[in-house]
This record gives sequence, C-alpha cells and structure tokens, in this order.
Amino acid sequence: MKAKTFRTWIEHLQATDRLAVIDRKVSLQYEIAKIAKKLDGKKATYFTSVEDYQVPVVSGICSTREDFAEALETDQYGVISKFTEAVASPVPCRALNKQQAPIKENIILDNIDLMKMLPIPVHHEKDSGNYITAGLFIVRDPVTRKQNVSIHRLQISGGNKIGALILPRHTFHLYKQAEEAGRPLECAIVIGVDPVTLLASQASTPFGVDELEISSALRGEPLEVVRCETVDIDVPAYAEIVLEGKILPHVREPEGPFGEFPKYYGPRSDKEVIEITAVTHRNNPIFYTIVPAGYEHLLLGGIPREASLFQSIRQTVPSVIAVHMSPGGTCRYHAIVSINKRNEGEAKNAILAALANSFDIKHVVVTDEEVDIFNMEEVEWAIATRFQADRDLVVVHEAQSSKLDPSTRDGVGSKMGFDCTIPLDSEEMQYLRVQIPGYNECNLDDYINPDKLIQSVHLEGDIDF
Ligand code: MN
Repeated sequence: MKAKTFRTWIEHLQATDRLAVIDRKVSLQYEIAKIAKKLDGKKATYFTSVEDYQVPVVSGICSTREDFAEALETDQYGVISKFTEAVASPVPCRALNKQQAPIKENIILDNIDLMKMLPIPVHHEKDSGNYITAGLFIVRDPVTRKQNVSIHRLQISGGNKIGALILPRHTFHLYKQAEEAGRPLECAIVIGVDPVTLLASQASTPFGVDELEISSALRGEPLEVVRCETVDIDVPAYAEIVLEGKILPHVREPEGPFGEFPKYYGPRSDKEVIEITAVTHRNNPIFYTIVPAGYEHLLLGGIPREASLFQSIRQTVPSVIAVHMSPGGTCRYHAIVSINKRNEGEAKNAILAALANSFDIKHVVVTDEEVDIFNMEEVEWAIATRFQADRDLVVVHEAQSSKLDPSTRDGVGSKMGFDCTIPLDSEEMQYLRVQIPGYNECNLDDYINPDKLIQSVHLEGDIDF
C-alpha cells in the first residue's frame, strides 16, 4: 500500500514526479503558504530549509480527487462507495508496544516550547499567528472508551499553550462533559499521518464511532496504534509528531482571526485552551501543514461529505447516480447531483434530501445521468439549457446555514435548488445532445504528424470548388 505511512506516500509522490523539493531557505511567515498555494492542485511541496529549524515542512500531499483515489487504491468514481463501505463497517486498530512504534523514537516531557521545536507557519494575512492546521485531534470517551478524531484549527498561544476552535460536535460534547465535572479532557494532536487516515478523520459518523477504525477499514488491515506517554489515548504508531495534552476546564482565551475554508476569516473570540504535556516524534520528523482553503483542505472536507450526502439522497431517491461537492462551492455549500430520473418530480425530492443532509448545503443542482457532474462546464450547460426558473427552481427562506458564509445573517440564510433534468415527456429531438459519431474513440495520434513543419503546409495553386 503506497499510503501506508506519511513517509511511504511522500516517497511515492517523489517517485511519480509530484513532489517539489524547495531547498532555498524559507520563512514561516507566509512564504511556505505562498509556495504551497502556487503548486496547489499540481504538486506537493517539501521545504528542506525553514528558517533555523531542523525539521522540514510538507504540504499538499493530496490536492486532487485522483490523489485521494490513488491513496485509497481505487479510481475517482470508486472513492465514494469505498468510503461509504468503510464508514458502515469500521475495523479495530492493532496496538503496538512502545518498542515497535517509531513515534516513540523521541519523547520530550519537559520545557516544551512549541515554536522553538516545530516550524509552525503563518498562512494568511490577517491570521492571529502560527497555526497547526493539519493535526488529527484525538480524544476518548471515558464511558465507552471509544476515541473520536477530528481536525481543528490550533493557534500557538505561546510556550506549551494552544487555542482551539472546537465546534459543537463530538469532541465538544466530550469536552463539555469533562468540564461540567470540573476535569480537563485529555487529547492528542497527531501531525503527519498517511492520507487514508487523514481522510478517515473527516468521516461524518454518529457519535461513538472511532474514525481511526474507519482508516483500518479503508486500508483493508488494522491501523497500527500505540498508547501515549502522558494521556490515555492511542495514536497512529507511524505518525511523524504527536503533541499530548489536555483541554483545560473553565479557561477561555482569545483565538483568531483565522483564514478559513470559505476564503474568509473566522472571527477572534474567547475559545478553549489546550496545555501540552508531552511531545513525541520519529527520528528526523517531518512537519505537515495544510494551507487553508486550498484544494487539499477543500477535498478533505468534501469527499466524506459526498459519501454522507449520497447515502441521504439514496434513502429518498434510489435512482441517484453520483454527487459532487465542487471546490468553487467550498466543497461544502454547493451540491451537484445526478439521477436516473424515472418519475417526474424526483429531482425536486433529491433537492430536498440534499438540503436536509447538512445545514452547510446552500445550492443544489440536479442533472440527468449523462451530464458529467465533475465537469463544471457541463453543469453550467445543464443549468443554461435544461432549467426554467418558473417551474424548476426551489427556494427555502430563513434556514439554518453556515456561520462562516458571510452572506448569512449570523448563520441564517436561504437555500436554492435547480432542477436541470429533462421532462420525461419531452420530444426525442428536443433535448438530443449533438454528437459526432466516432468522437469518443478518436485518437488524434492517428491523424497528427508531429514531424511535419508548419511552413510546409501551404496551399499550392488555387483550389477549384
Ligand atoms: Mn466523530
């Protein structure tokens, strides 16, 4: 498996000419983000010389849908079904002992100063400081002993302190339980894991499902984990860097602003504080950062959401073929759905099901099966030629929406659906897409002579029509 560990995947990227090695000395302040963003969707970046740090920085390890498909050992049409199957049947991890786990090669328990140890970048102009953007945040439910994995933006607040935005989901629920009992919640922040585990961390699951077990299911073998030093948490044994710590009860400190996935800033406010109690790392560790709002960030959020969306729509409209949360829609706000319509009205039901799946979803486009919903020019063409606003538009006013969408009124906004399917009773020629016979099979290499010089192609004499 190429994506067995962070390092095997980086080696694979290099072997396939998808890793840009940057040897020039770069600054933490914007320079890593700037270069990684220039190569976003094209190549991963490996910065060997970051200020005076010994630790290199990597970004963009999966920045196309094809990258994730390859890591999952499928093609881009198989990603959603493979992910859905793994979410439905998690596989337990395998515990290694300390001697077997590379993450235990170095253990630091004293004098932890995160900015002295790790090259943690500043990404955007108005960000409040240096942020860990790609840490898997692991906590454990003390009752069921199941772990939960998520990714949060983590601001370095000085020394061993971190400010975190923890939205009201699974981690928040466990934290509130601990806080109400006056206890801290133990946590581990894992930096530099394989892309399969990274993607699994973003699965939409019911409370109580351990996302690391979804990684095991995706891998087809148990993910190897090891117990932390100072907290009761299991982390991937081949991770590059692990920060162990606790979210403090009844402590809030300023965090933000921070450039978020919609390409706007999330605001500054008082948020939870994490105190780091230990750092463990592999020999010659590699730091990993995700540039916010880049393709890597958007797709990491988008692919697991597509899997959940597909399941939701299928309950109402079994003829759903595919779903796409497009990068232009932040991989959260726009859902494009193709269906094999058999009954009139099904597209409208698909719109309602999509809007019900997540409050983040704002605009839904439903097309027929033969429209390639991963090609946005095709989607626009369907809207242009198969949609009439008086009969095909669905609008819902004043619904719960994403607070990070600045056009909402503090998270209250409108929803809209476009039914771009062809009426079942339309005449055959009315919507018949033009086709050139043989076009799809045509191989241009059979026709173009690359050696023929342009100068030699000229008209000799007049042509008599
Ligand atoms: Mn969860």
